[in-house]
Amino acid sequence: MTVFSCIVAMACVVLAAALLFPQVRRLIKRLLASVSLSNRPPATDDHPPPAHFAGWKYCPLCASRLEEREVCERPRMACTNKRCHYVHWDNPKPVALCLVEVDGGLVLTRRRHPPRVGTWCIPGGFVEAHEAPETAAKRETWEETGLLVEITSLLGVYSPCQGGNEMVIVFGARPVGGALNKGEEVLELGVFKEADLPADIGFPQHLEIIQYWFKGDFSARGIDPPSNHCDNVPRDR
Ligand SMILES: [Zn+2]
Repeated sequence: MTVFSCIVAMACVVLAAALLFPQVRRLIKRLLASVSLSNRPPATDDHPPPAHFAGWKYCPLCASRLEEREVCERPRMACTNKRCHYVHWDNPKPVALCLVEVDGGLVLTRRRHPPRVGTWCIPGGFVEAHEAPETAAKRETWEETGLLVEITSLLGVYSPCQGGNEMVIVFGARPVGGALNKGEEVLELGVFKEADLPADIGFPQHLEIIQYWFKGDFSARGIDPPSNHCDNVPRDR
């Protein structure tokens, strides 16, 4: 076999691999981009699709097969039906948390539901469709603690954690009505001073937020969050 034949054979193998595997297509595009004279900034990471979408197979609009395809420079799950155009954008889901001060302590809840059943966390939950984050924070606090609260400040906005895809919005609040009364999602309620914090706070990010609140450190950092120590948060919901 001549050298030319070998080159042609290798090119055919690469072409076939590129047609079959999107990972190979991305690798080739990165290699081409690395030698281009474009002024575009280089990619900083591989942007893998989130693990919790790995099992998605069919389009929720037309039931055609989904495929992993590069859309707007990232791999995304997209419909194979040319007339459908469905793309799953997988944006982070907003979670609103409420730091409620009672007699110099913070109200915390012990979780009844996964993830991290039985551990303590800050009252809060997912923002509903068309709901303002402040409204979600107050609603979740009411549902979990029985307290009617007034939002007093926006303390921080946290980037999605590694392994998760939630954007955490943290508010400060004070009670204006109601009474401490645990909701259905809560095993136990407590008001904790800094020296008495429970050892089993379920999310490292929550612990960090609580520590910042006790130090009064939020104002110095604005809305730029502290590091996201969430690598160990399981994806079990
Ligand atoms: Zn479709």
